[in-house]
Amino acid sequence: NNVILEVKNLTKHFEVGTGFFGSKKIVHAVEDVTFKLFESETLGIVGESGSGKSTLARLITGLINATSGQVIYKGKDITGYKKAVDNQIPKEIQMVFQDPYASLNPRIRIGDAIAEPIAVHKVISEKKEIRAEVERLLKLVGLQPEMYDRFPHEFSGGQRQRIVIARALALRPRILICDEAVSALDVSIQAQILNLFNQLKRKLNLTYIFIGHDLSVVRYISDRIMVMYLGEIVELAAADDIFNKKFHPYTQALISAIPEISPTFKSQRIILEGDIPSPIDPP
Ligand code: ADP
Repeated sequence: NNVILEVKNLTKHFEVGTGFFGSKKIVHAVEDVTFKLFESETLGIVGESGSGKSTLARLITGLINATSGQVIYKGKDITGYKKAVDNQIPKEIQMVFQDPYASLNPRIRIGDAIAEPIAVHKVISEKKEIRAEVERLLKLVGLQPEMYDRFPHEFSGGQRQRIVIARALALRPRILICDEAVSALDVSIQAQILNLFNQLKRKLNLTYIFIGHDLSVVRYISDRIMVMYLGEIVELAAADDIFNKKFHPYTQALISAIPEISPTFKSQRIILEGDIPSPIDPP
């Protein structure tokens, strides 16, 4: 299998003031993370809130700078590439975030929202062609092309997430990083969006990093699963192996926390927040 992305000893420390006599505290958000992402796979990342998942995603996309370590995309060092002269790479890695309400400007027609990155990055310059491209993207995510001129408030949460996905696809990325991309949605809608991700993966030969705090959701979509705890990788293995083999005690704790959180692990602060039901077993 081809390696599309390589993360080497990636580390991010945040300095936070505690307020007491100006004393500083260092938060080790991501600590010496090393892994390879293979072309066309879906790599799930799980871990309780605060384990460093989002920080890792933001480091990979260059939204924040690393304290140390490297991000290599197709053999090219793209660590903190926002500063780089060659800004070809960012287009290749796009993100989808949790909140489809916050991700869309209520005053911008959804078609124009999808068209914006196409125009900014000059993927296509002819106005008519941009519109045709947006209509193609709308169809691709299961929406009607006639919806181009509507505003975000006219759509449901699931539909809005489809719009957000269409916009992420506008720059024709090779890797899509989904950060809690279905967490804000109703259970039945979660399943629809997960299936959309799977369809898009086949059609566009995409590679995914799928971040979630709900292990059952992540298992549903992932080929491999990485388990993070306090900024470090504690486990990285095939999704089925994670569930069937004996692994790190923390991973065991995450698994045994489904569907109920056992009191033992509660006391260890291993939390699956909100106890969101799985899309595989709707209530
Ligand atoms: P997750 O996505 O797994 O919930 P995060 O990556 O958001 O975890 O956070 C990892 C750790 O880094 C947490 O302790 C969080 O408080 C801290 N952190 C994240 N972003 C910042 C920031 N901008 N400044 C200070 N600390 C941060």
